[in-house]
Amino acid sequence: MQHPPLTIPPLEEVQRHFQLFDYIAGERIRPSVEMGGWVRNPNTGEAIAPQLATSPEQVERALATAQRLHEAGDWARLPANERANRLDVAADALMPLTPLIAAVESYHTGTVISLTNFVNAIVWLAFKGAAGVLRSGRTRLTAPGPLGEVEILRKPLGPAVAIVPWNSPAALAAHKVANALAAGAPVILKPSEWAPYACLFLADGLEQAGLPAGLFQIVNGGAAVGQQLVSDRRVRAVSFTGGLQGGRAVAAACAHDFKAMQLELGGNNAMIVLEDADIEKTAEGIAAGLTTLNGQWCRALGRLLVHESIADDLLAAARDRLGRVRLGDSLSPASEMGPLANEEHKRRIETAVAHLAAHGGQKHATTPLPDLSGNFFPPTLVTGVAPEESLEEIFGPVATLHTFRDEAEAVRLANQTPYGLGGYVFSQDEARAMRVARQMNTGGVKINGVSLLELNVDAPRPAWGLSGFGQEGTVETFDVFCGVSVVGVAGR
Ligand code: NAD
Repeated sequence: MQHPPLTIPPLEEVQRHFQLFDYIAGERIRPSVEMGGWVRNPNTGEAIAPQLATSPEQVERALATAQRLHEAGDWARLPANERANRLDVAADALMPLTPLIAAVESYHTGTVISLTNFVNAIVWLAFKGAAGVLRSGRTRLTAPGPLGEVEILRKPLGPAVAIVPWNSPAALAAHKVANALAAGAPVILKPSEWAPYACLFLADGLEQAGLPAGLFQIVNGGAAVGQQLVSDRRVRAVSFTGGLQGGRAVAAACAHDFKAMQLELGGNNAMIVLEDADIEKTAEGIAAGLTTLNGQWCRALGRLLVHESIADDLLAAARDRLGRVRLGDSLSPASEMGPLANEEHKRRIETAVAHLAAHGGQKHATTPLPDLSGNFFPPTLVTGVAPEESLEEIFGPVATLHTFRDEAEAVRLANQTPYGLGGYVFSQDEARAMRVARQMNTGGVKINGVSLLELNVDAPRPAWGLSGFGQEGTVETFDVFCGVSVVGVAGR
């Protein structure tokens, strides 16, 4: 993935895009239910817009529209190449919107513009990727049979629902929506009530592709709207990214009528630092692990596991590196880290740190705070806490530091949490690092790096334990929305 040039649209243009709409049956309508809270600029606390939800009647209209289109089957019957061509048109329409999507996202999530600009290339790339899956022939594979070729068909299961959180909403939404549409399914997107605006651009891109009205729809709101969607028996596949509590509620609703389901939940990701690790490089990795997406990243650093012989040196280097992190306004290209997403979330992080302090934790936070009134919180390491007190995900720029004596203890500590999303190993001996990494029960392990980029963009992104259900990926997400049908001749 190439870094697009950093162009920031004028602020007035960005602010014009804070008009929430539902997108139902091809119409843009203002959601009618006041939720009582506000979406605020996390840099300043300034109110941007009231949080609004779609009424239950309008959610029902969206569900009925999706079901009608699924039954009509026009989109699903289009040849795979034709569907792929339409997705390419959407990708081409979305590509030039990347700087605007990025700026809108930075303005109301607090993620720094240099990162949203980069990550939101995924919005259009997701449609290209899904088109590629269609062109690869996945909708109709064949296998030999005793009486001739057998067809292995992938067809849409039925209306799909995509639910996304607030940390990287547009890219996550695009990945789900593009694959549902590629599979031939009508899809209803529900963005987070804290960060719905960047997702709305998908309506612009997909309108250009000339899809049947209502094939892609957006409804807004929080858990209640999400529950109405996932509990509805017309919905046949759900892709959810969010926290454990929401994931459990979605899984329970899907269990009732065995909907296909993909859950991408949280993590409490370990970084194992062996005694031969390069201290400066590891300190760089710690800073990246704590500050990427302002620490509100499912693969963020949660538990720093350090060989006891280098713990003091590494802590000193990490304190020094964190002291140089540029924490500031999310719309400034100079900022490396921005504010936490909202005040409520900041309070949650403060409570989690207070809990660690009450269990013997000492805080190490050396990053200077900006002179702004928003939800700024410095990346923080906490030492002196028993590993058993740091098992849960914090979902903020906070990690606990624990020491180990040997590899076996390091692996035991890394596998101690109920999660299994990401992991990291730092060592100058790659073969040894690989050996340790192979023992970590987690969806992926990176050695000597903490990049947001995948090791291989086409490799699956699995989740173990409480980190989710199933796996994401180019082909894997497409498959979530498909039923498989094997068709062949049994007698001649
Ligand atoms: P959240 O679970 O509160 O909300 C996520 C989305 O689900 C929102 O749209 C919300 O309105 C909706 N929702 C909440 N409860 C629901 C319910 N009962 N039924 C249906 N929908 C419901 O999560 P959040 O606070 O927005 O995001 C933070 C969480 O997301 C963290 O735990 C983080 O690790 C996780 N996350 C995971 C990944 C991943 O790929 N694994 C990526 C990003 C974020």
